[in-house]
Amino acid sequence: MASPGRIFGQAASAGFAHGPVHLARRQGRAYVAKSTPERELQALQLAVEAAAGEIASAMSQLSGDAADILEFHLAMLEDGSFSATAAEAIGAGATAYDAWKAALDAEIESYQASGDAYFKARSADLSDIRDTVLSVLTGDTAHAIRPGAIHVDEDIAPSRFLAHDWSKGGGLALRKGSVTSHVAMLARARGVPMIVGIGDSAIEDAAEALLDAQSGELLVSPYPAQIADFNDRRTASQAQQREADALAPHPAITRDGESVQVLVNIADPGDVDRISVDHVDGIGLMRTEFLFGGDRGLPDEEMQLAAYRKVLDWAGGKPVTIRTIDAGGDKPIEGYTIAEDNSFLGVRGIRLSLAKPEIFRVQIRALLRAAPHGSLKVMLPMVSVPGEIDAARAMFAKEAADLASADVIHQMPEIGIMVEVPSVAITPARFAAAAFFSIGSNDLTQYVLAASRDNARLSALGSADDPAVLSLIANVASFGKARAIETSLCGDAASDPEMIGLLLGTGLRRFSVAPARVAVIKAAVRLWSGEGSVK
Ligand code: PEP
Ligand code: MG
Repeated sequence: MASPGRIFGQAASAGFAHGPVHLARRQGRAYVAKSTPERELQALQLAVEAAAGEIASAMSQLSGDAADILEFHLAMLEDGSFSATAAEAIGAGATAYDAWKAALDAEIESYQASGDAYFKARSADLSDIRDTVLSVLTGDTAHAIRPGAIHVDEDIAPSRFLAHDWSKGGGLALRKGSVTSHVAMLARARGVPMIVGIGDSAIEDAAEALLDAQSGELLVSPYPAQIADFNDRRTASQAQQREADALAPHPAITRDGESVQVLVNIADPGDVDRISVDHVDGIGLMRTEFLFGGDRGLPDEEMQLAAYRKVLDWAGGKPVTIRTIDAGGDKPIEGYTIAEDNSFLGVRGIRLSLAKPEIFRVQIRALLRAAPHGSLKVMLPMVSVPGEIDAARAMFAKEAADLASADVIHQMPEIGIMVEVPSVAITPARFAAAAFFSIGSNDLTQYVLAASRDNARLSALGSADDPAVLSLIANVASFGKARAIETSLCGDAASDPEMIGLLLGTGLRRFSVAPARVAVIKAAVRLWSGEGSVK
């Protein structure tokens, strides 16, 4: 038996998985040419049909935007124009593999060369479709995530994560990746164990492995005693979760009887399908950059309206805070963000929205039109000077006036801000025009400690329990309280039961957390008492 290998990464989504390692390889096998063009053509037709079947079956397990992406892929495949171009090339002597690749590559190139940001961004969908068919042609299905396996890959696209049915268990161990990536957010929302930054360590395919995404460890070829210990830890954690789950339907009240609001963060409108609205006080953060994500391009007004309405309808009158697109930094979007050397300090968040008003305008109109359908609040990300609030407000007012003159039903929502840049946290009074504050502890921590949030080597530095970060949080909380400006915290610190005591100690009483963490956070709130804590 091989001796166990301990591999360490960063915990990106807590949980445990025990299963075989599945090492992802992309297009690892060579295509074997067929004897005649007819056979090549047949091979291509079968591969396209098989890829379409794969996509259709993944779609049937999904809803909302996740299903929409796949529906788009399916429509492209079924359209037949790529097959026709490839068939012509096969007739001229190309293999099915080369013909399909050339047909898609040409289209991808023209999408990328187009000045249109939407088409540029959609080229990622075409690459996905190209690779799915090529994988079927080579018989190389190693790119797929296998049910119950621990999938080891460089990184994975959100569409691939969404297309997989995680109900059969398994988890992710990524060689690169980041805890703040969209995939990490989706994994946290769905409770899929995931670690990132495991580097180049040699791992044997199909080896038995234990993924402890609580501590960030992957143990390959474990000894029986290690499996027993892992099972004990998993059972204890499950018991804890069950205990907490029993409290999930009840409000979060501290031992002193103070009530605490617990809302949820979502990254995809489809996330609400898995959340019981009765267990939460609303949506504290909807990250809309996921709608704009690489695989789906820039969404138009109607698509955005449908996404926002879905969430508002689900909330049934509870508050829904939708954040305007926060791209840039660790969240680049093809065709939208600007390549910069120091992107975390660059044109990101509201800076980028204001720099690209033609794209921001579309989101503003969708938000204004969604507002009458519930209790919508709009949040601006990465605000660093008060003028950004004024500029965004002016754009909302202009679009509202245009909608009014076109007789389109709309409503002006409350407009608040993320507090995630130190300039705001140090002098919140300058930003009192905001309808509410929501503290982004992820970015605030990286800026206060000068430690970039996606650098695995700095993970020990980047913690919100640093006294400098906590004192800024307390500064914002007490200013908000004094001026009756609703103040909450929606960064990952709120999803950590070990941080909740410290955060309650700063005076905060409103948190927005990952859906899978609602129960444990409520349980942690119940154990807390203000006695002896500094408020
Ligand atoms: C944050 O910075 O804490 C936050 C909630 O925003 P994001 O993680 O999306 O940057
Ligand atoms: Mg942020």
